[in-house]
Amino acid sequence: MAKWVYLFKEGKADMKNLLGGKGANLAEMTNLGLPIPQGFTVTTEACTDYYNSGKKITDEIKGQIFDALKILEEQQGKRFGDTENPLLVSVRSGARASMPGMMDTILNLGLTDAAVEGFAKKTGNPRFAYDSYRRFIQMFSDVVMEISKAKFERVLDEIKEKKGVKFDTELTADDLKDVIVQFKALYKAEKGTDFPQEPTEQLIEAVTAVFRSWDNPRAIYYRRMNDIPGDWGTAVNVQAMVFGNMGDTSGTGVAFTRNPSTGEAKIYGEYLINAQGEDVVAGIRTPQPITKLEQDMPAVYVEFMRIATLLENHYKDMQDMEFTIEDKKLYFLQTRNGKRTAPAALQIACDLVDEGKITKEQAISRIEAKSLDQLLHPGFDVAALKAAKPVGKALPASPGAAAGKVYFTAEDAKKNHEKGERVVLVRLETSPEDIEGMHAAEGILTVRGGMTSHAAVVARGMGTACVSGCGEINIDEEAKYFTIAGQTVKEGDYISLDGSTGNIYIGDIPTVEAAISGNFDRIMTWADEIRTLKVRTNADTPADAANAVKFGAEGIGLCRTEHMFFDAERIPKIRKMILSKTVEAREEALNELIPFQKSDFKGLYEVMEGRPVTIRFLDPPLHEFVPTEEDDIVALAKDMGLSVEEVKATCDSLHEFNPMMGHRGCRLAVTYPEIAKMQTRAVMEAAIEVKKEKGFDIIPEIMIPLVGEKRELKFVKDVVVETAEAVKKEKGSDIEYHIGTMIEIPRAALLANEIAEEAEFFSFGTNDLTQMTFGFSRDDAGKFLDAYYTNKIYESDPFARLDQDGVGQLVQMAAEKGRATRPNIKLGICGEHGGDPSTVEFCHKVGLNYVSCSPFRVPIARLAAAQAVLNNK
Ligand code: PEP
Ligand code: MG
Repeated sequence: MAKWVYLFKEGKADMKNLLGGKGANLAEMTNLGLPIPQGFTVTTEACTDYYNSGKKITDEIKGQIFDALKILEEQQGKRFGDTENPLLVSVRSGARASMPGMMDTILNLGLTDAAVEGFAKKTGNPRFAYDSYRRFIQMFSDVVMEISKAKFERVLDEIKEKKGVKFDTELTADDLKDVIVQFKALYKAEKGTDFPQEPTEQLIEAVTAVFRSWDNPRAIYYRRMNDIPGDWGTAVNVQAMVFGNMGDTSGTGVAFTRNPSTGEAKIYGEYLINAQGEDVVAGIRTPQPITKLEQDMPAVYVEFMRIATLLENHYKDMQDMEFTIEDKKLYFLQTRNGKRTAPAALQIACDLVDEGKITKEQAISRIEAKSLDQLLHPGFDVAALKAAKPVGKALPASPGAAAGKVYFTAEDAKKNHEKGERVVLVRLETSPEDIEGMHAAEGILTVRGGMTSHAAVVARGMGTACVSGCGEINIDEEAKYFTIAGQTVKEGDYISLDGSTGNIYIGDIPTVEAAISGNFDRIMTWADEIRTLKVRTNADTPADAANAVKFGAEGIGLCRTEHMFFDAERIPKIRKMILSKTVEAREEALNELIPFQKSDFKGLYEVMEGRPVTIRFLDPPLHEFVPTEEDDIVALAKDMGLSVEEVKATCDSLHEFNPMMGHRGCRLAVTYPEIAKMQTRAVMEAAIEVKKEKGFDIIPEIMIPLVGEKRELKFVKDVVVETAEAVKKEKGSDIEYHIGTMIEIPRAALLANEIAEEAEFFSFGTNDLTQMTFGFSRDDAGKFLDAYYTNKIYESDPFARLDQDGVGQLVQMAAEKGRATRPNIKLGICGEHGGDPSTVEFCHKVGLNYVSCSPFRVPIARLAAAQAVLNNK
């Protein structure tokens, strides 16, 4: 019989896949002899089994849960549902990778009409017992049964009004009994059944709810954002309750062994006296800093610090711990490697290496490559910031600068972000439902909540600037405005947030590029020592290229030359070329473009100082360049001596039903070889001149796009070679150059062995290759892909993360076939996937020479390339 349930003492840290992160760490802490309320873990495999069994927990699994429960009862000397001394448990989800917001914790499970009496007797505190029961009914109904929390709040408010009190704490035990009666009535009205009075039934319902939550839309979205496979499943942890809300010698808190925002090596956290865990996270009361515990309960603080240090040394990483003090007795409820900002991740990694606790390789493996993005995010322009006056200040929950228009719901934030606005999400407090709006926002501002509140933790993870817990704000979410310092901010007004200081400003303060710390260079140097893949950049301007070099780019993998034509001075010339009726007229128009192209290329060569530069010839369908505005059409007609009608007719004739599969890529050069001639001349003249002027060793790489057939490539290549040789002769130069192609059409991948006869290098254009392999339009797929994620057909966006099963096969096959023909063929990738860590690892595994990505993702690719080496040793 399979084992579906493990007592904490039966597991250990390396059983994460089976027990989830939380379960494995609870087991490890139990084995270390730490004060852990005991319990058991229902495995991730049981979750998978639940889905495979038609969303049912089998009797075998239920049986094992009840067996574990029996042992827990014996350990605790308490019984489920007992009228003298009932066992109460918490039920929490716990996947392999931590997934905040997947499912809320259920506390006090096991309370029933009978058990609450026992609990009241045992604690000698009926008020506390009834309050726990009413909280449990509310939590169970909300989390497990999906009855809106607000309905219960309404009942509670009505009773408070009737009793003439303002706070829950003013309700007496008898008042709370009334609340319970009404809560149960509400439950029955909503569900048609009585609130379950059998604790084992409550438990199975709760475990089912955790399994179900694995597939809620929030979890699916989180997994997609974080590359977590859908078939991992979540474990469920059932743990004996301890109570932090039993008076002033009790409390509960969350702490990190180092500062998760800055990485400073100092205990960091918050706690609340006389409270349950949910009170800290919900941010309804403002917690005390953890150091205050030293004054409040010195002995407990000493013990807390001893265990915190022990845990960090044991895991050799910064720990995020939850603890509860029940009448001066300290318990740890969980520990995990703490989430941290990117600057903190670098600081902690460098410090741990310097402290001799981890190796450089371990340091490299620990840092989440994608998080480096945060380091490169902008801060405020110093002068503009100096001139601005903050209207308020709250907790600096997640660093970075943000400015944008205020929106009060996640939905509005998302909608307006999609319209191209910079948005700031302002909420009373955030909850997991807000995730997409938070993701869309430049910054997040909340009225409630501490540094460990939902808003703070999630924003830090996403690298979004966040200021939390601004009690000075009066907010009306429904009417969509807030007031601060006597000023009113309405929906659509600009505000600016400094997530590093907590300052809030009215208005739109300009932001500037990030400055990078010394830790960054250290980590990047270590990564460079390890990685074997080269990292290039996709850049079309000297400024972008210079930026990329600063971030460590080792060359340009893709210069999209068409981007050079959209300038106001140039576009009329390319339009003239497109509308020309004869080769001569076209050549004349193209000749006017040569000086522009040449100076662009010279700029790139100068910035790149001899590093390789791959220049991709004109690719998009020509209609993308033709005028649509009446003024432009009239100007063009005048310039070309044509009538407006003639120009319009020619533009109309360029219309295509499927432009992405139409007259574009090398097909343009096949029909108009003079385009390739012009571009070759510009490339060669620029290279020869910069080589002469600056002494850089330049070997131009000319890349022909969208090839699907060897003869097609050969045709264009012949034009290029003829022109290049002519330029060399004219200039008396012996400069070398390479001609290669993009592999972005499935046919090119299938016939890569033939294409390699003509191509000196391949660059995988995985944007088009994905488009054509899936048959998904890269411009339209967004409209329907959401339905694919929610229905679990695809887990991630194939345009962001390479589909290794399908498209990846084509890449691998083409690489092998290319090498079979030309062993030294240079292989790279220049689709958007080149900056995605999982794709970088794939490229390393199939033996590509380089990845090429946008400048800001160069550091991510460098780190991911090093991690790929370490993961595949
Ligand atoms: C590609 O198709 O992957 C590519 C890099 O070219 P573009 O995005 O310009 O079509
Ligand atoms: Mg392409």
